[in-house]
This record gives sequence, structure tokens and C-alpha cells, in this order.
Amino acid sequence: MKYRTLGKTGEKVSILGFGAMRLPHFKANDQIDIEKSDEILSYGIENGINLIDTAYSYHASNLAGKGKCEEYLGNFLYENSYRDEVLLSTKLPSWLIKSKKDMENIFKSQLKDLKTDFIDLYMLHSLNKDYWKMYRELNVFEFMDELLSSGKVKHIGFSSHTEMDWIVDILDDYDKFEFALSQLNYLDERYQSGREGVEYLSSNNLGTMIMEPLRGGRLVQNIPQDIVDLWDSAEEKRTPLEWAFQYLWNMKEVNTVLSGMNSLNQVKENIEIANKSEINSISENDLELIKEVAWEYKQRKANDCTGCQYCMPCPHGVDVAGCFREYNVAKMLNNPAGSAMHYFSLESGTRADSCLHCDDCLYHCPQMIHISEDLKKVEEFFGKKYTYF
Ligand code: SF4
Ligand code: SF4
Repeated sequence: MKYRTLGKTGEKVSILGFGAMRLPHFKANDQIDIEKSDEILSYGIENGINLIDTAYSYHASNLAGKGKCEEYLGNFLYENSYRDEVLLSTKLPSWLIKSKKDMENIFKSQLKDLKTDFIDLYMLHSLNKDYWKMYRELNVFEFMDELLSSGKVKHIGFSSHTEMDWIVDILDDYDKFEFALSQLNYLDERYQSGREGVEYLSSNNLGTMIMEPLRGGRLVQNIPQDIVDLWDSAEEKRTPLEWAFQYLWNMKEVNTVLSGMNSLNQVKENIEIANKSEINSISENDLELIKEVAWEYKQRKANDCTGCQYCMPCPHGVDVAGCFREYNVAKMLNNPAGSAMHYFSLESGTRADSCLHCDDCLYHCPQMIHISEDLKKVEEFFGKKYTYF
């Protein structure tokens, strides 16, 4: 396994981290298959993975609730005496926080479930501009200061689902953040804060953790033939899995990549790729090829929304750009379930079913999208309720 320093935390972290949001489970998401999960996590740790990432909500029975992952991991690490071998990372569920007491109570229950006295890497989960405003009003700074000074948290950070401007504001507001987790893969260079965000974090010496390297697995499954042909034309032959990981590990700004592995084969394959990865090992021609592949995928989008937001704010509260973003990603990757998760993370009242078809926004769109018509399609596509559990 290879290791990089996680920014100013100074921690040596394996370049492949174990994301525990997709552990093997029985039919229901909250019924973790303990035997199989133990096997794949043990293999990962024995072969050099030293970062395990979980969250309060992982392996829950519904989108917003408390999951079973932390409790499972607490038992696993304790029974196998692995706690001291790994950096344990988990998150405060921003969507459940209404007061400082909520933060304290949830954190306390996380320590108990994880059977530990401290968390190595603790994050505010899914930080976006609305959650950050809420946290500021609740004086989250005091809560985070207490976690750090008591030693119950070694390093504080945030997982980011926000645009670049907000990353800058967040770091300006609180200078004790030491790392952040952001979404990045070769399709998402400009999604949310994208590559620019990772470069900005790194230039400020924050540790950079990457999520969604395979876009929920879609970059390596059911690959369209024209994209297979493009990969086959590369100077150096790599599997789609290698392309996706190596695109990230090629960047010196990336410290570690989390992968939500759920089988022993996946763990073995990912570790093998990590072991041979290098910074700056992709040729200029092959970097161009990656752009071509991304372009081919993007041709499959449902409409041409660029996310410019000239049509917003909608007088009835619809997050037009957010709805189209998730709809387009779902079409591009043919993955309704993966995108539905993000779509239903948009606040209720901002999704497509809140559009009143008044057409006030119609002439504001530089892409000439008939917004209300396309929002109808979004509503039909995702429905009114998350139904994938
Ligand atoms: S058509 Fe829909 S999205 Fe556009 S302004 Fe009216 S309610 Fe908002
Ligand atoms: S104005 Fe058009 S392109 Fe811009 S966010 Fe709205 S729908 Fe998308």
C-alpha cells in the first residue's frame, strides 16, 4: 500500500480508504452481513488500508435516519483489536441538527456505538451553503473547539457538497478545519467545487479525501461500446477501474480516495491498483483521452442545463439547477437509484414536484430549455418519494 500525508493533519493515510457505506448486507440496507463485512474489512486492513470512513447515517433503513454502520464497525474494530491500526473517520448528520444539544447528543452516541474514546477524523456531513448558515447560527465553532480541546476528536473537517465560493467562505470562517472530503472523478471535474476545490484545499494545506471515484460504480459497469473503444485506443492499456482510480492518484493534490467496497474481489482489485499507482504517471495524450471519454458520457444527458442559475430564484422555491443536475447525471450514467439519493437530498419544496408551471422562468434560460416541461419529466423520473430502500 502507498501512503500520503493528509495535509496539515500530518497523518500518514493509505491512498485507498475504506468507505463503509456499501458493506455487504442482506435484503434491507440496515441488515449488514457481518461475516462478509468482517472478511473484506480485515483483508483491507491486513493489506495496508488504514482509513475507515463511516457516518451516522450509513446503512440506515431510510434516507435521513440513524444507520447501523457505526455500531457494526465499533464491534468489528473492538473484537479484532484493530482500533489502533486505523484512522477512524465519521460525520455529524447536518440534516438532523437543530441545536447544540443535538450535536452533543449525536456525537456522544457515535463514540458509544464506535466503542472508542476518540474519533481521528470528524466531519460536518454534506456541508452546503444552507447547512453552513445553520451551523454558524448555532455557533458550531464552540462545539468543534470543545471536541478538539477535549481530545475527543483529533482532526476536524467537513464533507463538501458545495460550490467553490462556499469552500472559500467556510475556510475563512473557521481556521481549524484540517481536511475535507469532496466528490471528484473524471466526469465531475466541474461538479460542485470539483477539481478546483481540491486544488484550493490542497493549496491551503488541508488534507484532501475524495469520494465517488467511480460514481457509485457506474464508471465501471455497463460501459457503452463507444467508450470501451475509446479506452482501447489508449497508449497504455488500463481497465476502466484503473483509469478511474489512476486519474485521481495521478494528482499530487489528492491524498486519499475512499471506495465503498462490498466484495473481497473489489478490495483485492482496488489494492492491487493502488499498489502500482504513481503521481503524474498518465501521459498528456491519455489525459486528453480521459476528457474524450467524459465528453462521450456527457452526450447522454437529458438537457443542456449548465447550472448557471439565471432562471433562479424561482418564486415558488424550485431548485431548477439542482433538479436538472441530478436528472442529467441519472440519464448520463443510466443510474436512477444513485441519483435519486442526491435528488431527494434536495430540500422538500425545492424539487420538481413544487413547480407550479407558471413559466416565469421561461425566457431566462440561455440554453433555451423549456424549464417547466423538463421539470415535469424530472418529476416523472424520480417520483415524489425516495423508494430505493
Ligand atoms: S415554471 Fe416552475 S420553476 Fe419556473 S418559475 Fe414557475 S414554478 Fe418556478
Ligand atoms: S437558466 Fe437554464 S441552464 Fe441555467 S440553471 Fe436554469 S435551466 Fe439550467
